[in-house]
Amino acid sequence: MRYSGFKVFTEGLFGNKGWRPAWRDPAPKAEYDAIIIGGGGHGLSTAYYLAKNHGLTNIAVLEKGYLGGGNIGRNTTIVRANYFLPGNSEFYSHSLKLWEGLEADLNYNVMHSQRGLINLFHSDGQRDAFARRGNAMVNQGDDAELLDRDGVRALLPYLDFEQTRFPIYGGLLHRRGGTARHDAVAWGYARGADQRGVDLIQNCEVTGIDVENGRVTGVQTTRGAIRAKKVGIVVAGRSSQVAAMAGLRLPIESHILQAFVTEGLKPVIDHVISFGMGHFYISQSDKGGLVFGGDLDFYASYAARGNLPMVEHVMEAGMTLMPMIGRAKVLRSWGGIMDMSPDGSPVIDRTGIDGLYIDCGWNYGGFKAVPASGWCMAHLMATDRPHEVARRFTLNRFATGHLLDEEGTGSQHNLH
Ligand SMILES: Cc1cc2nc3c(=O)[nH]c(=O)nc-3n(C[C@H](O)[C@H](O)[C@H](O)COP(=O)(O)OP(=O)(O)OC[C@H]3O[C@@H](n4cnc5c(N)ncnc54)[C@H](O)[C@@H]3O)c2cc1C
Repeated sequence: MRYSGFKVFTEGLFGNKGWRPAWRDPAPKAEYDAIIIGGGGHGLSTAYYLAKNHGLTNIAVLEKGYLGGGNIGRNTTIVRANYFLPGNSEFYSHSLKLWEGLEADLNYNVMHSQRGLINLFHSDGQRDAFARRGNAMVNQGDDAELLDRDGVRALLPYLDFEQTRFPIYGGLLHRRGGTARHDAVAWGYARGADQRGVDLIQNCEVTGIDVENGRVTGVQTTRGAIRAKKVGIVVAGRSSQVAAMAGLRLPIESHILQAFVTEGLKPVIDHVISFGMGHFYISQSDKGGLVFGGDLDFYASYAARGNLPMVEHVMEAGMTLMPMIGRAKVLRSWGGIMDMSPDGSPVIDRTGIDGLYIDCGWNYGGFKAVPASGWCMAHLMATDRPHEVARRFTLNRFATGHLLDEEGTGSQHNLH
């Protein structure tokens, strides 16, 4: 069933009786050509591109809960291509181009909104760093504009330009950056994969990975054993646990990141804004809620909820930057389990086990990566070769020391 304005109109005329479920609810088969563990954004996009780009359709996505219940439905929805280092910048540039055609490709409204992202800077040193980043973005073929203080004031007049502790010097504007509705992205990919014959199996937790003579042969699940020629581990915050089922020890730590949303307000914040002197970023959803977040909770955990010290820290940063939001009531907050790598960059790679692949290490930036991650993971699983734009996302860089450390904070998971 194709979605269109015409379809909405005619369904409205005839009592909305013609809509069908967006995907099937199949029972697991005994064997698949490929299994993807994890029905988050990355797992679903991998399945979609395996089917669409490589013609593999005897595939299952195994999800222990429900599709979109993980980080893909918990993030602050920021989409951008403003990376600095070769390795990251071409990957995220590719991802943003896929975002720009995603709704037409999926025939699904993911509410992708290129409303512009502004990273504020508050010192001469920060200005230099952002100018350098902007040049790298432009060299990569993406967009960047350096705004001075008046340029920022023209776009964001409600910021506190008077406070002296963290004066606003200017900002780096990335016009093609913005937001998308996070769970719609999971639903759009799920529907697209299902239409191409992929079995999406919910409430099916993988409890073991079968390996014989150095080759993967299938998985054990709460719904029985399933054989497979190829298996992709795409489970974000659970990466270390699932990889351990195959005897692998990953350089990943799982940490909590919280997000917050206020009551619905009239449109007031037109852009995505990030504060340069504290970890705080904010946008306004199409429903009117202010959606914002900050830093990790600073300790490793598998609890998908956060704690009060970080709530206070985030609110303080928000109030410092834009005191007007102090009048808004926070309605909800929640946490997600982030797969933090030692250099802050991801992994899309083979493992030492034939037919077993891994996609992880998205830190807190994996939402914008969903299209390119699926594209590149599908390429790797179908061809056994890394995709050109993901060739540096290897596991062995943590052994060789060829790190992709965008933040320059060194090899410490919770600092990225
Ligand atoms: C609060 C917060 C804010 C964020 N903000 C942004 C942002 O603004 N921009 C951005 O780019 N990124 C952001 N991120 C990061 C982004 O959401 C994640 O990097 C990304 O969603 C992770 O990939 P995923 O979608 O595949 O993960 P998930 O949706 O978590 O998918 C993994 C799936 O694997 C399943 N699974 C785990 N173990 C098993 C098992 N044994 N068997 C079967 N299934 C299993 C889980 O149930 C889960 O559904 C944010 C994250 C959080 C939590």
